[in-house]
Amino acid sequence: MKGGDPEVLALLERVGQGGRIDDAGALRLLERASLTELSWAATAVRRRHADPGRVSFVVDRNVNYTDVCNVYCTFCAFYHRPGDARGYVLTRDQLRRKAEETRALGGTGFLLQGGVNPDLPWEYYLDLVDFLHRELGIWVHGFSPVEIQMMSRLSGLSLRGTIARLKAAGLGSIPGGGAEILVDRIRKKIAPLKGGVEKWIEVMEAAHEEGMRTTATMMFGITETLEERVEHLRHLRQQQDRALARGNGGGHTAFAAWPFQSGHTVWEGKVPRPTDAEYLRTVAVSRIYLDNFPHVQSSWVTMGRKTGQAALHYGCDDMGSLMLEENVVSAAGTCFTVNREEMIRMIEGAGFRWWQRDNVYGAVEAPPAA
Ligand code: SF4
Repeated sequence: MKGGDPEVLALLERVGQGGRIDDAGALRLLERASLTELSWAATAVRRRHADPGRVSFVVDRNVNYTDVCNVYCTFCAFYHRPGDARGYVLTRDQLRRKAEETRALGGTGFLLQGGVNPDLPWEYYLDLVDFLHRELGIWVHGFSPVEIQMMSRLSGLSLRGTIARLKAAGLGSIPGGGAEILVDRIRKKIAPLKGGVEKWIEVMEAAHEEGMRTTATMMFGITETLEERVEHLRHLRQQQDRALARGNGGGHTAFAAWPFQSGHTVWEGKVPRPTDAEYLRTVAVSRIYLDNFPHVQSSWVTMGRKTGQAALHYGCDDMGSLMLEENVVSAAGTCFTVNREEMIRMIEGAGFRWWQRDNVYGAVEAPPAA
């Protein structure tokens, strides 16, 4: 490839030959590589993990079983405080209806997350998972690390013991929500009660030790530096290396990054929204650096369709969820939704064939052969 920066060219060559870049290399690419160079290198890594001609999506539902939360993250426009009459906990009838609607639309699972509701006992979570999985036949991709930490305190079990009980009750996989930026300086500012970096890491580590599949996320553009973005990625890559070395089936299936949505939060007007180009640069460098992650998701829900499609040429091989329901992002003011046909049109319009997956990347449906 032609280009101006010899260090960038050396990095591109290493990536093209299947080599790993270090933190300084990731920073150099974030700062200096052109969009064309990043697209080329991210696509090279994507090819090693996924069919280069196909893009997946999942039909599931983002179900927030409660919006009551006592963690009070400063970036969150979703929660109600304990005792606030506007707070809710979904009833079984509501959950059943959501499951029926999901299945009627060809959906397979729930992305199940709540606030951290101090009024719910440990048994509530076991019953909830059992009800959804065994009675309603829903794959439960559920509970972010901060919820699992709270359940561990309630149950009196270790993190691993807590996850083992949830798994036995029917929990299928764990989403990586709440990672935000895995740098304590930032976490203290935006989510002081959520715990430091080690809290998120140790829950995911316990899940992997238990053979559980998880996802990993990054919410960027909330005053972190580019070095801190790379630090976040380093935690994820190291954790995935450990998971793969364990070889027990546990580990991250996918990575997703999205820009912070500041609407209706105390940050509104105080932090600039990352541009489309910054999003594409960030997702491409993530794909290149996280060379041990099988899949990277495009965040069309926050970035819109055009940029979501463009991300497929910056290392993403997955369009994530159809988003039958999105409470948290829509509470902060940005939420794009599409139906299944539109999703397929988005993928085909970007030049790829589609396939529908479940929450752990098993095939649900592919298009009929032409
Ligand atoms: S992001 Fe999650 S943990 Fe933080 S306040 Fe909102 S619901 Fe609670």
